[in-house]
Amino acid sequence: MTKSISVDALVVGAGPAGLMFARKFSSKGYRVLVVEKENRLSEKACGEGISARVLMTAEIPIKEKERFVSREIKRAYVYSPSGLRITLNGSEEETLGYIINKKEFLEVMAEYATMEGADIMMMEPAKDFERIDDGFNVKTKNCWIKTRLLVGADGYLSTVARKLGFERPRERKIIPSIQYVMVNVELDDWEALEFYVGKSVAPYGYAWIFPKDGKKANVGIGVQQGAPLYYLNKFIKDHPEKFGNATKVEFRGAAVTIGGMLKKIVADNVMLIGEAAGQVIPLTGGGIHSSIAGGSIAADIAIEAFEENDLSAVKLKKYVEEYNRHWGKRIRDSKKALEVIDKLSDEELDKLAEILDPKDVLDLANGLNITRVAAKLMKYPVFSIKIASKLLS
Ligand SMILES: Cc1cc2nc3c(=O)[nH]c(=O)nc-3n(C[C@H](O)[C@H](O)[C@H](O)COP(=O)(O)OP(=O)(O)OC[C@H]3O[C@@H](n4cnc5c(N)ncnc54)[C@H](O)[C@@H]3O)c2cc1C
Repeated sequence: MTKSISVDALVVGAGPAGLMFARKFSSKGYRVLVVEKENRLSEKACGEGISARVLMTAEIPIKEKERFVSREIKRAYVYSPSGLRITLNGSEEETLGYIINKKEFLEVMAEYATMEGADIMMMEPAKDFERIDDGFNVKTKNCWIKTRLLVGADGYLSTVARKLGFERPRERKIIPSIQYVMVNVELDDWEALEFYVGKSVAPYGYAWIFPKDGKKANVGIGVQQGAPLYYLNKFIKDHPEKFGNATKVEFRGAAVTIGGMLKKIVADNVMLIGEAAGQVIPLTGGGIHSSIAGGSIAADIAIEAFEENDLSAVKLKKYVEEYNRHWGKRIRDSKKALEVIDKLSDEELDKLAEILDPKDVLDLANGLNITRVAAKLMKYPVFSIKIASKLLS
């Protein structure tokens, strides 16, 4: 029998963005329901790498990290096509970030959201959306849900974005990505992330090794050209010193949005947040932090909108403006960096690895201070036109 429910906000998708929104919005006493199509949190593949600052944005006290951190990360190594290694360090004793158990992390986020009064229904995909006077009637697997605010937090395949016409055909640029969890891996440095670039390793993408607890690691790849599985298996075969005795215990794949934010992410009574809105840092494919930030900022503006009884697109647009101030700019700048790096040959990437210092690499990847990096590259004729001018545009 179809159940009828009425809420203030219906959040489609219990990922990092949706759970963050649900927690903040319900903390003001509004009725929030999150519907999730899967039967467990974090069903989608993920490298599970986050920076230490994510916990602040997610408003999770540091003491909680024992519940979901699999490995503390102090460094990252980036390997150029010829094997040149750039080391990115955190400061002296500072943790650069964490490899989390994402399922446990999302369970903590879900706990915080439900403690504030939000409800979560698993195995309840949102299927259809019917606009009504002041909101939407949403058809899920078992229910009709009437909501004043519809929040699309349903990731890169967002049904909300597509069915409501937010996402135009071919607007979303994605990179297919796959990952094994491997056990009995041999690594020299278990406190370091490892990234490998180069056309023969991962065409227009990169391979990664993210160390987890014990001798376990997430070993994955994203490529924009060619078959990801071929390149991932080749990568593993090319590193017998690490994987010679290792065993694959899990294989999953998904895609990551790397084309930046969609042009339209709000309308009357609707907000798109997280990866559904394209809130992913394009060069790294990291989307957990930027999606949590999206959920958080959207909730602040939704609270204002409810207080003023104004859920118009004009009012909700304030969320886009606030997000753009820091995150939107980072996403745009990282996209520029990705576009120029994609055009470099392996030889040019090697040369770049010689010129750039670790801070330059971090800034480029994260879309921070790219004009500073561009100014540095201007001094090198080989890169001044190809990279610097585009980064400055
Ligand atoms: C292989 C891989 C590795 C990655 N590694 C990292 C990493 O190391 N670090 C990092 O920061 N980012 C990483 N990312 C990106 C990151 O996973 C996402 O950007 C981030 O999870 C986005 O959060 P979100 O809440 O917006 O969406 P998602 O995490 O995608 O969550 C969306 C949720 O909506 C649900 N859903 C979808 N449709 C419906 C529907 N119709 N009804 C109900 N529910 C629905 C989904 O099941 C899902 O639970 C990786 C991605 C991939 C594919």
